[in-house]
Amino acid sequence: MSRVAIIGAGASGLVCAIEAARKAHTVTVFEKNSKVGRKILATGNGKCNISNEKINITRYHGETPSFAKEALRRFDTLTCKAYFRALGLEMREGEEGRLYPMSHQASSVVDMLLHEARSLGVKFSLESEVFEIKKNGAEFVVHTKEQKQTFDACVIATGSVAMPTLGSSGSGYAFAKALGHSVIEPYPSLVQFISDEPHLKEASGVKMDAIVELYIANQKRASVQGDLLFTAYGVSGSAILDVSRMASKAFVEGETVHVVLDLLPNLSREALTSLLQKRVSVAKDKSLSLWLEGMIPKKLAHFIIQNTKLGHIKEASMLGAKELKKIVFALKALRIGIDATKGFESAEVCAGGVDVRELDAKNMMSQKMKNLYFCGEVLDIDGDCGGFNLHFAWASGYLVGQSIS
Ligand SMILES: Cc1cc2nc3c(=O)[nH]c(=O)nc-3n(C[C@H](O)[C@H](O)[C@H](O)COP(=O)(O)OP(=O)(O)OC[C@H]3O[C@@H](n4cnc5c(N)ncnc54)[C@H](O)[C@@H]3O)c2cc1C
Repeated sequence: MSRVAIIGAGASGLVCAIEAARKAHTVTVFEKNSKVGRKILATGNGKCNISNEKINITRYHGETPSFAKEALRRFDTLTCKAYFRALGLEMREGEEGRLYPMSHQASSVVDMLLHEARSLGVKFSLESEVFEIKKNGAEFVVHTKEQKQTFDACVIATGSVAMPTLGSSGSGYAFAKALGHSVIEPYPSLVQFISDEPHLKEASGVKMDAIVELYIANQKRASVQGDLLFTAYGVSGSAILDVSRMASKAFVEGETVHVVLDLLPNLSREALTSLLQKRVSVAKDKSLSLWLEGMIPKKLAHFIIQNTKLGHIKEASMLGAKELKKIVFALKALRIGIDATKGFESAEVCAGGVDVRELDAKNMMSQKMKNLYFCGEVLDIDGDCGGFNLHFAWASGYLVGQSIS
């Protein structure tokens, strides 16, 4: 039986604590917030997209994504479902294989994990920010403002630096470095785009299914179909988040980024042209914006008129072939320059983190320091949108918790 310190009561830390306590270790979890699992509560818009039916190593990224294989093998989707059911949590499947708690509430997930951990005797030291971890012989000395405690094993489950308002301060990177580990410079992923494209704000609030093509240095790098949301600052939605990792990296490398949007993916250019031509012939005295409103959201219609510089056309019946071509182009291949991402403050996860090449993939223990472990988002492993990141947090916490000797 060892004394185990877990730094961080997030997704990975909570599962790790449960598993370590089940192995009869004495577990203390340090959490800087006054409550556990604050980030879990914010996930999936408060509904917590726990996992995905299609968990697969190809959905994970980093310098060495294959590192995640063992954790995902030991804790696959079936194990994940069985794990939460055993804690008393029922699940339901949403779109694209996403798994959610049946209650539709992220708080159910946190409550079940907390109940299990407490009933196993896990000690929670809340409002206890760890500011230093030192090695003293075989022991780890964990320093908070109020106390200094010694442990036989230490797990760093502090998360990343994404959305710091929920507790992620990047302290795990500092601990890793101080204990002799390398950290791959983090950058934001699953994050919205900022654009100062003229008039884009006019479409703010419009949400639609679209194809987003990502261009880096004018080279097409990705194409994704999904939700697109126009906002006051630029563009968001799942299709944008899906391509944001690449864009974020491109910004770090000083490349230019733009997207090309197909706002009507179910209509070919030809079909759209012929639809517009038919509509012109029956447009009567409709203004251009009213005429467009018959096909696309009103706010988007205003933006398209500005974007195509067709504001001088008073009535839709005056549209000629040249003008129709402009409208088709704007709806099927709208180019939006991207200035930046919304950064760590708004990102759901971080790419980069503790270099996993210095850890043993079988148990996530440091190869440099015995009994020092890492799990969750602090590692240089990040997943796609859709439950992949929480799944890795549970899976890596599970692996570490079961491996502490
Ligand atoms: C808005 C939002 C929505 C998301 N939605 C989803 C989703 O639906 N599905 C999905 O798969 N993923 C989602 N994610 C990503 C997912 O939440 C994270 O990948 C996951 O929570 C990471 O778990 P973790 O345990 O590594 O870190 P965290 O959950 O961030 O936990 C780390 C904990 O450590 C604590 N801590 C940090 N430093 C210290 C310190 N020095 N001392 C003491 N405590 C410390 C923090 O306060 C925090 O509680 C979302 C993220 C965000 C921000």
